[in-house]
Amino acid sequence: METDLARAWLRAAAAAIEVNRDHLTRLDSAIGDADHGTNMHRGFTAVLQALDGYPAATAGDVLIRAGGTLISRVGGASGPLYGTALRTAGKRLTGERPDPAGLAAALADGLAAVCRLGSAQVGDKTMVDAFAPAVDALRASADAGEDLGTAARAAAEAAEAGLRATAPLQARRGRASYLGERSIGHEDPGAASTALLFRALADAAARPAG
Ligand code: ADP
Ligand code: MG
Repeated sequence: METDLARAWLRAAAAAIEVNRDHLTRLDSAIGDADHGTNMHRGFTAVLQALDGYPAATAGDVLIRAGGTLISRVGGASGPLYGTALRTAGKRLTGERPDPAGLAAALADGLAAVCRLGSAQVGDKTMVDAFAPAVDALRASADAGEDLGTAARAAAEAAEAGLRATAPLQARRGRASYLGERSIGHEDPGAASTALLFRALADAAARPAG
């Protein structure tokens, strides 16, 4: 992943979050405290500001800067979780042109850090339920020799399937877990934002940088 692509990813992510801000907040009003869209929008607006004019030498620098911004600027649980994911992934993307396998390995590290920080596993009805299948799909595509655009599209589809699969689950982590069985029947807001982030990666990878 190149620096331009990392920047394009975060711009596409910020745009998608802006469009879906109210939808994310509606999901969070069903099983949380109705702030996920606001949290993500505040965070990614700050990320774009922090990257504006920032002299990043590698894609990793871009992701580390973005992650630190999310950690410091988002009050909800999602800020430190996404921030840690991006920072951890960024620390592995030190080369100038990591390939799809390198990106998959970096995001796998980011996912592992989220699971550690949040004590979450697949099936707990969190962002991990979209993040983990996306990383698996990215790795499988990379292993099959696909290019980054194809790999990222597979990851986005897997994240979206993971999101849909959160609806029938009972939450075991985060605020939604306080609802017990009443959390069943709603998609998880963080899984929804994760699906947006992977779709944004696919969109950015499909376009020439600019
Ligand atoms: P808060 O829950 O503090 O209001 P947000 O509403 O911004 O923060 O984010 C909620 C989302 O964060 C949840 O939908 C879930 O996906 C994710 N989340 C919350 N707690 C955890 C956790 N312990 N591990 C993984 N993800 C979590
Ligand atoms: Mg919330």
